[in-house]
Amino acid sequence: MDCIFCKIVSGEIPSTKVYENDDVLAFRDLQPQAPFHVLIIPKMHVDSAADISKENSRLIAEIFEAAAEIAKQEGVENGFRLVTNSGKDGRQSVNHLHFHMLAGKSLSVQLG
Ligand code: AMP
Repeated sequence: MDCIFCKIVSGEIPSTKVYENDDVLAFRDLQPQAPFHVLIIPKMHVDSAADISKENSRLIAEIFEAAAEIAKQEGVENGFRLVTNSGKDGRQSVNHLHFHMLAGKSLSVQLG
């Protein structure tokens, strides 16, 4: 499958890894939107949040556990935002489920 994030998982495309376990990988976003901007992804390919089901929803818990771990590891002390874009209206540009973890400043209140 021609998926950039699957290629990052396999090591075919380089990334700056921040955290990894058996199910989840986190790496720095190429075009950071905040002083701290990491993408947290499941290693298994899932297109988007619209494809979460009873069968794979444990990955979401894994991703949130990773975020809490990354915050401790990276010294993110004043809080963070976790965002996932899904589909055309959600402005998803990479079709492999990912959560943006943003921190390092007081973030904009605008969400939509
Ligand atoms: P989204 O628009 O929510 O699908 O977010 C996709 C994100 O992936 C964007 O913030 C891009 O900057 C980021 N991105 C795309 N390719 C790479 C890459 N090779 N390494 C790191 N981040 C990437």
